[in-house]
Amino acid sequence: MFENLSERLGGVFDRLTKQGALSADDVKTAMREVRVALLEADVSLPVARQFIKAVEKKATGASVTKSVTPGQQVVKIVHDELIAVLAGEGEPGSLKIDNAPAPILMVGLQGSGKTTTTAKLAKRLTERDGKKVLMASLDVNRPAAMEQLEILGKQIGVTTLPIVKGEDPVAIAKRAKTQASLGGYDVYMLDTAGRLSIDEELMAQVEAVRDVANPRETLLVVDGLTGQDAVHTAENFDDRIGISGVVLTRMDGDGRGGAALSMRAVTGKPIKFVGLGEKMEALETFEPERVAGRILG
Ligand code: GDP
Repeated sequence: MFENLSERLGGVFDRLTKQGALSADDVKTAMREVRVALLEADVSLPVARQFIKAVEKKATGASVTKSVTPGQQVVKIVHDELIAVLAGEGEPGSLKIDNAPAPILMVGLQGSGKTTTTAKLAKRLTERDGKKVLMASLDVNRPAAMEQLEILGKQIGVTTLPIVKGEDPVAIAKRAKTQASLGGYDVYMLDTAGRLSIDEELMAQVEAVRDVANPRETLLVVDGLTGQDAVHTAENFDDRIGISGVVLTRMDGDGRGGAALSMRAVTGKPIKFVGLGEKMEALETFEPERVAGRILG
């Protein structure tokens, strides 16, 4: 199992009993442990390096009060810096969906949990925020995906756009917009098709849909267990499509949350929600505190 960072640093600083300020040497020694902890938590190497640089700067010369040990002091500085990187601007989990009907575009790779997350979010918006939500699947390549969204819609009591065979994604997006306007919906969610990996066809399709839908939010759904790959995926989607936020799924798994830190550091986009299981209730607002705790072990 992972060794707790606080214990590790406690060990490093065992012989360091005098209080006062953290010396450059103390900090260097501590940073080695922090680096291992970050890498074990699946934080990417460049992000870990950048993070450590920032912490090193803050920790060197920092005063150590009588009530804490130098190790505890370093852990606090690391913790505060983790929160600073993880927290995005604005209220966690907030979405720009004021002007009805507000389109939300859901993008991501196949198997990332996109369809499940679309339904989870629709349920949350309906039940928690009292919104009238319409969901539409644009995955014309996989009829099963369209049916999956329909089934989930029935399960959570959210309307899905009727499936019309042979329609292309742009036409479906337009029809969703019309139905959302006519039906007095507050929000309509477009669940785009995924691919196993990023390819030109996928990106061109998502781009075309984005251009007709003009989404208020474009949420990228990524599997939180895929670490570095998740970060590459986010960079790619953001460059090409422009995302407004990220939903990290499978955070109920063994992952240590390092992907969240890398994602924030690399893309600068807010992580809005986390998926914590297969059930429709298993979606929560992203909490930097909780993930920081998980990374620290
Ligand atoms: P899509 O291809 O991106 O639309 O992926 P799906 O929504 O079909 O999800 C793929 C699988 O991942 C399904 O079996 C989901 O139940 C499961 N899944 C989605 N989100 C989560 C999550 O947060 N945690 C866990 N454990 N499983 C999830």
